[in-house]
Amino acid sequence: MVVTDTYFRYCASCGTPVSEGPEGGYVCGACFHVVEPLGADAARRRRRAERAAMVAEAARLRALRQF
Ligand SMILES: [Zn+2]
Repeated sequence: MVVTDTYFRYCASCGTPVSEGPEGGYVCGACFHVVEPLGADAARRRRRAERAAMVAEAARLRALRQF
């Protein structure tokens, strides 16, 4: 029996063997099904919140200059 440790996960969508990234996410090479690594969602939410705060701050500064 040959054990390939490159492929230890199968695409949830089409069943093609996929190589997982270091944090658990993968992109299927056959159907491009994407599974994001753990924590990717939280990180994206955090980035979006930071960005919103930055935009709000910029708007505030712009308003200060106008008056
Ligand atoms: Zn797939």
